[in-house]
Amino acid sequence: MQWQFTFIAASQTDKDGDDPACHGLVHDVDVGALFRQKTAFKSLNQAEKLNIINNHFRPGDDYAFPKVFMNGCNRSFQRSWQQRYPWLVYNKECDGGFCLPCVLFAIRESLGTLVTTPFNRWIKVSKVCGEHEKNRYHIDAMVAYDNFLTTSRNPQKNIQVQIESERGSTIKRNRQIVKSVAKCVHFCGKQCIALRSHRDDSTADRNGNRGNFLALLELRVDSGDEVLKNHLATCSANARYSSKTIQNQLIMLIGDHIRDSIIQEIKEAKYFSILCDEVTDNANLEQ
Ligand SMILES: [Zn+2]
Repeated sequence: MQWQFTFIAASQTDKDGDDPACHGLVHDVDVGALFRQKTAFKSLNQAEKLNIINNHFRPGDDYAFPKVFMNGCNRSFQRSWQQRYPWLVYNKECDGGFCLPCVLFAIRESLGTLVTTPFNRWIKVSKVCGEHEKNRYHIDAMVAYDNFLTTSRNPQKNIQVQIESERGSTIKRNRQIVKSVAKCVHFCGKQCIALRSHRDDSTADRNGNRGNFLALLELRVDSGDEVLKNHLATCSANARYSSKTIQNQLIMLIGDHIRDSIIQEIKEAKYFSILCDEVTDNANLEQ
């Protein structure tokens, strides 16, 4: 994004709408210009704020600050002030100082010099900057500014990012568990073997056999399915995804998927035929 602003102080504009204190020099990222559009800085997104923090005008060592005759001598902005007040930034268009954290993060409506108007009464630097630092809104803005820099430079420390990351991991883990369980159901269906015995539950018979489905789950765990192993070892009794209810739901879902695939195949085919057959049980009765 390219930033082009011209600063116009709300209380100091001339009849043409230009600030007489400004010199028409516009830096690509101009802090002072944010006040011309008073709501602009409130609607900046994170990337725009970071752009201002990283790229606002910084006078070089050879920069000649304009001298203003004040109280009997020529005075100008002093570079050493930025060491005393690290939040202080210099705006060359207006030859004034601003508090960058307050510009970007102060939330109070009535803000004073250094935020809504540039500071340029150089002989008052200790008084104005000292009092500004004591403002509640400045202290809050400094905290917000530090937090913003920390999370911008280390996105993994952002609480929202951490929550989203944890949520994503949980979803991914749950999908793996369901996939492992569904593969066992699918295997039984494909090989035409019963998932469980006539008891219709997970109770083992006198030989310790709890049915093909649960035996398959154990086989997957023995074969190295660590996600399933960890799930079965730590989950609560009502969230194992292995009950007869879950088995039946998975059978229905797999059945729906197979039917949808067949329907799709038929829709795409120009011609199709249907072949019918019957299946009998042990008593030779048609099912
Ligand atoms: Zn401030």
